[in-house]
Amino acid sequence: MSDRIDWWRIQFGEAEQAQMTAAVDQRCISQGPLTAQFEARMAEMLDVPHVVATTSGSMALYVSLLAHGIGPGDEVMMPNRAWIATAHAARLVGASVRLIDDEPDRPVMDLGDLLKKISPRTKAVMPVHLNGRAVDMPQLNRIAEEHGLVVIEDAAQALLSRNAAGYLGCQSAIGCFSMSLAKLMSTGQGGFMATRDEGLWQRLCSLRTHGVENVLQPVYTTGGFNFRFNDILASFALVQVDRLPARVKRLIEIYRRYETGLAGLDFLRLVPVDVASGEVPLYSEVSSERRDEVIRFLDGEGIQARPFYPTVKTARYLGCEDELPHSTRQCGRSFFLPCGPDQSDDNIQRVIETLRRFPGR
Ligand SMILES: *Cc1c(COP(=O)(O)O)cnc(C)c1O
Repeated sequence: MSDRIDWWRIQFGEAEQAQMTAAVDQRCISQGPLTAQFEARMAEMLDVPHVVATTSGSMALYVSLLAHGIGPGDEVMMPNRAWIATAHAARLVGASVRLIDDEPDRPVMDLGDLLKKISPRTKAVMPVHLNGRAVDMPQLNRIAEEHGLVVIEDAAQALLSRNAAGYLGCQSAIGCFSMSLAKLMSTGQGGFMATRDEGLWQRLCSLRTHGVENVLQPVYTTGGFNFRFNDILASFALVQVDRLPARVKRLIEIYRRYETGLAGLDFLRLVPVDVASGEVPLYSEVSSERRDEVIRFLDGEGIQARPFYPTVKTARYLGCEDELPHSTRQCGRSFFLPCGPDQSDDNIQRVIETLRRFPGR
């Protein structure tokens, strides 16, 4: 029996170790010059004026809402099919969560459903570009402008993913990115925000440091907290910035291998990502009515597959009552096959061959 195949594989090595040692040697361990350097590199890569690093993608979502003064009495709209972090960010600032269904044929937030649910309490919309798939940003921005809503993108799964207008996460007030383990770039924990708005940028920097950063006179100008990043992790991230284009290329390669290898299977299909338009398939996501059986079968063959997250609506404490049929159906069927920028061709091949032997297919 060959080695177990993990669902996600990303590799770190001597370059990261060397950079971290150098950071320690320079006594750069808290938020300092390396964090600033990382922010500048990321801003350049995404072609936005400002990037603000913080402790996690979840924190980025939370601080972005804080920066807009969203809180109790306000309602924040977001997709039902998403990672729970987006909903928890809204909840933590005291706002209520209104869930939006997916499009019938594409697992992204349905803007028709969103339009129907806008109320006088709605203050913000948080589109989630899950697995690199673009929510229709030009259309969403038009709706938001008409109804006076703030748009904050959850682009945690969409770093370097594009639509016709450019990079996702750079097409609204603030885009939020994550550097947790199963993301395109990883520092273990970490995240950052991208914004084109000078005022917002200053507010984010202030909020990150108890309201006293970028203030010329040492007075307390605004409430804030400690959401600072640190230079050790920034050094870890800086090594990876140059590798991102190669990682994107590799993820597309893996996606194509699955696309070819799984063609013709009737019990399972690859959930499409629009690679031709610039979307990056961070994960190799498949859909099957027999999901749990398939995952168990793969597990018995030494292959780890990971079911998609439960819908946000299943978090009962959020109190969401809407019927959300499309996202619910898709969530129940989706799972991730082994992927990640450092997953080998041999592993992908073994997964494909194993799936082609799935009993009763
Ligand atoms: C990973 C992720 C987050 C949260 O990022 P963390 O860095 O893990 O806090 C938020 N939203 C989505 C869609 C994610 O995949």
